[in-house]
Amino acid sequence: MTQAFDIAVVGAGMVGAALATGLGRNGFRVALIDFADAPEFVPGSTPDIRVSALSAGSERYLQNLKAWDTVLAMRATPYRRLAVWDQSSHPLTRLLPKPLARVEFNANKLGASHLGHIVENSVTQAALWQAAITQPNITLMPGVAVTNLIQNNNHAQLDLDNATAITATLVVGADGAQSRMRDLAGIGVTRSQYDQQAMVMSVRYRGAVEDITWQGFLPSGPRAFLPLHTAGEEFPGESWGSLVWYDAPARLAQLKAMPTEQLMAEIQQGFPQQLPELTHIDTRASFPIARQHAKHYYQNRVVLAGDAAHTINPLAGQGVNLGFQDAQCLQQLLIVARNNSTDLADPALLSQYENQRRPANRRMMLAMDAFYHLFSNRVPPLHLLRNLGLGAAQALPFARNRVARYAMGLD
Ligand SMILES: Cc1cc2nc3c(=O)[nH]c(=O)nc-3n(C[C@H](O)[C@H](O)[C@H](O)COP(=O)(O)OP(=O)(O)OC[C@H]3O[C@@H](n4cnc5c(N)ncnc54)[C@H](O)[C@@H]3O)c2cc1C
Repeated sequence: MTQAFDIAVVGAGMVGAALATGLGRNGFRVALIDFADAPEFVPGSTPDIRVSALSAGSERYLQNLKAWDTVLAMRATPYRRLAVWDQSSHPLTRLLPKPLARVEFNANKLGASHLGHIVENSVTQAALWQAAITQPNITLMPGVAVTNLIQNNNHAQLDLDNATAITATLVVGADGAQSRMRDLAGIGVTRSQYDQQAMVMSVRYRGAVEDITWQGFLPSGPRAFLPLHTAGEEFPGESWGSLVWYDAPARLAQLKAMPTEQLMAEIQQGFPQQLPELTHIDTRASFPIARQHAKHYYQNRVVLAGDAAHTINPLAGQGVNLGFQDAQCLQQLLIVARNNSTDLADPALLSQYENQRRPANRRMMLAMDAFYHLFSNRVPPLHLLRNLGLGAAQALPFARNRVARYAMGLD
């Protein structure tokens, strides 16, 4: 027999699992489908190569979903300071005072305990799966892929690769940047690939867990440091961290193929001096980075959320924070629709979702683009302009605090 649901969420990554949990907690009958198996957290394991800076706004959302305490019980590292500076030098800016090229946000000055947390993606996902499992009206379907979509006036049917099918009033495509649901629904994307890629490395460094995450900008791309948890008794006095090296694909391919000792030397030369002393490089992986936006957020009974709808340059770490905002917005609208006995795939409702989320996502996309173009060049006037911009942000507490509150997901 074909099982019937109110909502089928395809993709149980951070965004899909969060949305399904929220909907389940609000009484919807939800199917949560992912072609991967259930994520597992192993205490004492080396960190997941994929980590995200979760804003205070995302933390609050995960608290509402009863997943945040599970995240904290696994592993999460608060950061209290965030610094950004221009690492390149030019004769013109050498004449300017040094602090002008740097801006630092500090939780103390905002009356907050922290600005956000660095969390391994698999930890956030595992905590959300655990929260979803506790909801009796959520049916989790790990290790299952959707093979076909049929839509009619009353519901959508999803054929699955385990030779079964389900129906749902609404299908959410939360299956990431290469979304199969987006393709099945016939929704196109606009996409532009950046010249840079991101190479991420899990490393150990000497010293206690840092309370700062920072990014130094070079014309070839930024270099970023994100603190992770302590390395424990096995490596006393050491901590884990994540490094991101943005550069041209050919350069990153070269770095990725290097023996560890040589890579260590390249990092010492290529990263700002603020980098703590590294003792070990664990894993490395590179990711293509692209700006991608779905041409529509919905089509008939399929609606998109998270990376399936939009991907942005990760240089300010906002991708999943935007996805969580999509999920919250969609959940609120679906609750109103159910209370008004409206079809959950009513075009008026789904266009309201798109009207609220598209401009916000686009704004962040354009801001990241502006950052990328302003910093990834050697043109002297732009060099001066970005230094003056950083200097102004540092000198004007009001502007600095507004930016910080926005980045923290509080405004
Ligand atoms: C280098 C880098 C650094 C980043 N840093 C940050 C950061 O600091 N902060 C931040 O907010 N964001 C960051 N991001 C972005 C963030 O990782 C993404 O925005 C986020 O992972 C998107 O979550 P999602 O759930 O929408 O998609 P995904 O994480 O891609 O999850 C999609 C899920 O769908 C499943 N799936 C895929 N296809 C199918 C299918 N056909 N059928 C069934 N299941 C399917 C997958 O198994 C997966 O579980 C970064 C990205 C990169 C590349």
